[in-house]
Amino acid sequence: MTARTLYEANGHRFILLEGFGHGEMVPTNQVLIHNGDEGILLDPGGHKVHYDLMDTISALMPINQLKYLFFSHQDPDIVAAINAWLMLSDADAYISKLWLRFVPHFGVDELMIARLKGIPDEGMRLPLGDGELVFVPGHFLHSCGNFQVYDPQAKILFTGDLGASIGPDYVEVTDFDAHVPYMEGFHRRYMPSGHANRAWAEMARGLEIEMIVPQHGAIFPTPELSRRFIDWVAELPGAGEVMESMYRVPA
Ligand code: FE
Repeated sequence: MTARTLYEANGHRFILLEGFGHGEMVPTNQVLIHNGDEGILLDPGGHKVHYDLMDTISALMPINQLKYLFFSHQDPDIVAAINAWLMLSDADAYISKLWLRFVPHFGVDELMIARLKGIPDEGMRLPLGDGELVFVPGHFLHSCGNFQVYDPQAKILFTGDLGASIGPDYVEVTDFDAHVPYMEGFHRRYMPSGHANRAWAEMARGLEIEMIVPQHGAIFPTPELSRRFIDWVAELPGAGEVMESMYRVPA
């Protein structure tokens, strides 16, 4: 498990926590953004990751500075340990309002439930230290209630499952074309809508982006590689259309 500082200036840090998840678990990236004396943890992950992650974060900042938790969507590799995080911190937890009544099924104590906050469909801005973050819509990429995080100071976009790669043995993409095979299978099956893919690409082209960091696999560490990725998503067909011929009753 490694903490890599992707950006650090003026009391603002964007830290990639990678190499979590082992055995049958799909490997996950977590992100800590810290500004002044406030931190936010993006897509904290499940139970098996929780203790290691807690240790790693404690070495980076006092855990009582963890002010927010962000969940891009409702999947277990993101949300499963939510109760533990709420118990061990005073953080408020942000997730699409679509999932507010489903997440408690992971077991959120009655006392914690008031700290679970719904993000409206159009997204929102969140103050962090003396800066702010933007929760941008990523609906249907892949979950129907899905958000990404744009850090305007670091100019890094955290894309959740969008951009996930399975199997590369490197942390930073260098050759986009060589990287595509690691992304293709996942995106063709998990990203349901070509229409949403294109709409997202249009929005992303309006952001100033230095790096793109997904929740699984390698990151796109330069503006050029980030742009190649956005262009690739714009052309990506939706799984709903790709799989149309599968809608048949099994014999
Ligand atoms: Fe997911």
